[in-house]
Amino acid sequence: MSDAAALPGQPRGLVVSGPATARAVNVLAPNPSAMTLDGTNTWLLSEPGSDLAVVVDPGPLDEGHLRHVVETAEKLGKRIALTLLTHGHPDHAEGAGLFAELTGTAVRALDPALRLGDEGLGAGDVLEVGGLEVRVVPTPGHTSDSLSFHLPADRAVLTGDTILGRGTTMVAHPDGRLGDYLDSLRRLRSLTVDDGVHTVLPGHGPVLEDAQGAVEFYLAHRANRLAQVETAVESGHRTAAEVVAHVYADVDRSLWPAAELSVRAQLEYLRERGLV
Ligand SMILES: [Zn+2]
Repeated sequence: MSDAAALPGQPRGLVVSGPATARAVNVLAPNPSAMTLDGTNTWLLSEPGSDLAVVVDPGPLDEGHLRHVVETAEKLGKRIALTLLTHGHPDHAEGAGLFAELTGTAVRALDPALRLGDEGLGAGDVLEVGGLEVRVVPTPGHTSDSLSFHLPADRAVLTGDTILGRGTTMVAHPDGRLGDYLDSLRRLRSLTVDDGVHTVLPGHGPVLEDAQGAVEFYLAHRANRLAQVETAVESGHRTAAEVVAHVYADVDRSLWPAAELSVRAQLEYLRERGLV
């Protein structure tokens, strides 16, 4: 199942295919859909002048795409030394095993079940590959294992499905939890306010150059939806499906299953706080 529900929101940002920042190149996977937008962004990261690269999210199990990622690195004069995963959804992680075989790299992720090799990955880890610094930022909520990767030298953050390049994302209940997600958005906001991050390199959709604006939009959108869900419950809509039909009436029906997971997460959040 793919996952990155593109619920409507502000179309903001630049369409980038190829170099997005000095250290990040996007290799777009050929898996576009309503859920994955243009497809999964596979990120190739490298310090300028270094011959080593890091790949974030090899993407779906599509050998042509995985080979294209390796060839893109080779054309840039780089050898892929490490593979990282933002989370375990198949449109990001399913190709990781074959990619590890093709490149001989370890795969590091928060979820031990996704790892290949001895090393894990956790909150606050700082990785250094060929002079490239990557800081691991825990951002659970979309899923419990979601990580973001901060590239301080580019004042950029790779957000996986926590922030998308278009629309908004989903909270994949029950693994994903809304309280965690809101905390993660606030953590990303502090990266923009306190650490000068201004670029979002998302898991799907275009690069966003106003990272703080994107985070603020996501927080406002979640607050609006939460208020709508609360009102819907108060006016007698009882089941998650009823709430979706009421609150997400303006959203394409192909996204309603994803919206229902988000609504379940919102209902859980409201009930835990005694609000409904
Ligand atoms: Zn996902």
